[in-house]
Amino acid sequence: MARWGAALLLFLLVPAVTPAGAPIKALIVDGQNNHDWKATTPVLKKFLEETKLFTVDVATSPPAKSDLSAFKPDFAAYRIIVLNYNGAPWPDATIHALTSHVRAGAGAVIYHAADNAFPESPEYNEMIALGGWGNRDEKSGPYMRLRDGKFVADMAPGRGGSHGMRHPFLVTVREPNHPTMKGLPNAWMHAQDELYDRLRGPVRNLTVLATAFSDPQTKGSGEHEPMLMTISYGKGRVFHTTLGHDLVAMKCVGFITTLQRGAEWAATGKVTQKVPPDFPTADKVSAREAP
Ligand code: ZN
Repeated sequence: MARWGAALLLFLLVPAVTPAGAPIKALIVDGQNNHDWKATTPVLKKFLEETKLFTVDVATSPPAKSDLSAFKPDFAAYRIIVLNYNGAPWPDATIHALTSHVRAGAGAVIYHAADNAFPESPEYNEMIALGGWGNRDEKSGPYMRLRDGKFVADMAPGRGGSHGMRHPFLVTVREPNHPTMKGLPNAWMHAQDELYDRLRGPVRNLTVLATAFSDPQTKGSGEHEPMLMTISYGKGRVFHTTLGHDLVAMKCVGFITTLQRGAEWAATGKVTQKVPPDFPTADKVSAREAP
């Protein structure tokens, strides 16, 4: 009897408790990439799940040079979509299912080379605001340049997307009051990574949260390049991190923390996570053990 009573109590309690505490359903999309997506997707999944905020599924496309016409993840079943895909274009209907879901109010995280994907898709490029490679140039949109403390669109002709030598670099916060950035130090050393430069795109409704100086001495652009961004896309929120080329870069606590906070913000508009005590400082990289 006692057991039935407990079960009944649980049955009565759970529906009342679940809506507020329900985990956020997240979907990572991968399957083709010039990066090691088989290594990075499980790490992204672990970082999201260790916040206890997300449950994460993965949708993997067919491999390169195969028929993608049946690749139609159920985007609508998820509150946030994490893009870890940089490969052959999906069918228009699949790209549109993604962008219209985000436009209707879902969240998206654009992770590193996902901003290389779909150079020919206007809606995808509007959602990511800035992208690189894939023959992007001035036809793709302007560069975003920091001039006199403000970000301005620069239509100078030239390639879209490049990076210099991999090295640890300083990331500087430009929007300290954004929920994703609040409480972080004004600048921190990021572990060795590619420092994306010269990205181009439609830059609509773009907010640059953090930049890094792309030093000509490491074959960079000589500009303060956008590293972390948000894009307001219809009713949806997009968090775009250019960081995280490989597992070395992903072990950086700065990468992990901004991914976790950016994903929560994109999904809910708020950040409830505390800044971890091992967050890097302006002079010292902080990396966690291999995941
Ligand atoms: Zn890379």
